[in-house]
Amino acid sequence: MGGDDRRIFTVKSAYNLCNGDAQGVESPLWKAVLKYRGLPRIRLFLWLVFQGKILTNSEQVRRHMSNDPGCGLCGASVEDLSHLFWDCFEARMLWSRVVKEEKLSVFLTIDFQTWLVSNFQNQQDFAKNPEDWDIAFGTYLWNIWRRRNERLFSPDIIPAEDIYFRSSRMIAEFGRASSMLRLHQHAAPNLTAAVQRWEAPATGWIKINTDGSRNTSTGLASCGGVGCDSNSRWCFGFAKGLGSCSCLEAEFWGIYEGLATAWSLQYTRVIIETDNREAYEAIASSNSRKFGSSILPSIFELLSRSWEVRVSFVRREGNVVADAISRLVLPTSLEYRRWLEVPLAIRELVMADGIPWGALITCFSFLLVIFRID
Ligand SMILES: [Zn+2]
Repeated sequence: MGGDDRRIFTVKSAYNLCNGDAQGVESPLWKAVLKYRGLPRIRLFLWLVFQGKILTNSEQVRRHMSNDPGCGLCGASVEDLSHLFWDCFEARMLWSRVVKEEKLSVFLTIDFQTWLVSNFQNQQDFAKNPEDWDIAFGTYLWNIWRRRNERLFSPDIIPAEDIYFRSSRMIAEFGRASSMLRLHQHAAPNLTAAVQRWEAPATGWIKINTDGSRNTSTGLASCGGVGCDSNSRWCFGFAKGLGSCSCLEAEFWGIYEGLATAWSLQYTRVIIETDNREAYEAIASSNSRKFGSSILPSIFELLSRSWEVRVSFVRREGNVVADAISRLVLPTSLEYRRWLEVPLAIRELVMADGIPWGALITCFSFLLVIFRID
């Protein structure tokens, strides 16, 4: 992404952008992306939409990836961004539900880029419910795209929610999470200061970020992690389905598999970083009995081998990639998977987190966006 107004990438422009200096980004489109208040993954998605990089069928034809620009859902002759977000039947149904009736025809006929910008800037214009319309609008676009992909790639799955309900749920969850975060920040400013972005390890070391994820309704869990070197290059990623498992046990499994993977790949200096304080403290305590974990003794055995291992704790915001990769296996599969290159499904997230730039620059022109169900 070019950080200056000429859209040319330089180290200086990237540095300024990382430091929050968006002065060179003059276009209202870029400002709309930068200021988007919703989920980071949706912000990244919007960035791709604004660039026209979403792989609609017409975009695939333009890139010589396909011969058929038609819409696979409604049979329209061209599926481009305006068809996807305006004309295709589910998008139509959604907008007629959330946009003022008297504004609907204008809403669906103005210039596409003006449409994007105006909906992020002028919240009162079109929405039946203008409160947080910018967040809602981005969430609607994201879910239109997700639903389109689900229908094309998993036609046998009958979704439990339509786009409107799924979006409403996400918007409500985001609202609750934001208000909790504000309360938390107000109550414990020191904790907020501890939130970290990912940082590369020193030369000669690799850092493995691990995470466990568990579905609260089914009790099924998986774990995963990512190892990167001092140049922020991707060394490996892994994930394992764990079946029915507690949150803490899933975290332990993530740490165990991270260590075991690094050992099998013959790394000798390893930092293992978890976002679970309890897991971190359990390992720091060197007491496996206290936690009653079946896997903790195996972690201690790995730690006792002839290599250097440090264990550290990072707040969750710094560990999003490890969380995402843990979701790449089915919890019920009990399978272990390893990736020596960045898996396609999380490339956009890895880029957003700024980890393995070197590994990704060559891949970027082939970037495919695959969205996963929560
Ligand atoms: Zn269509």
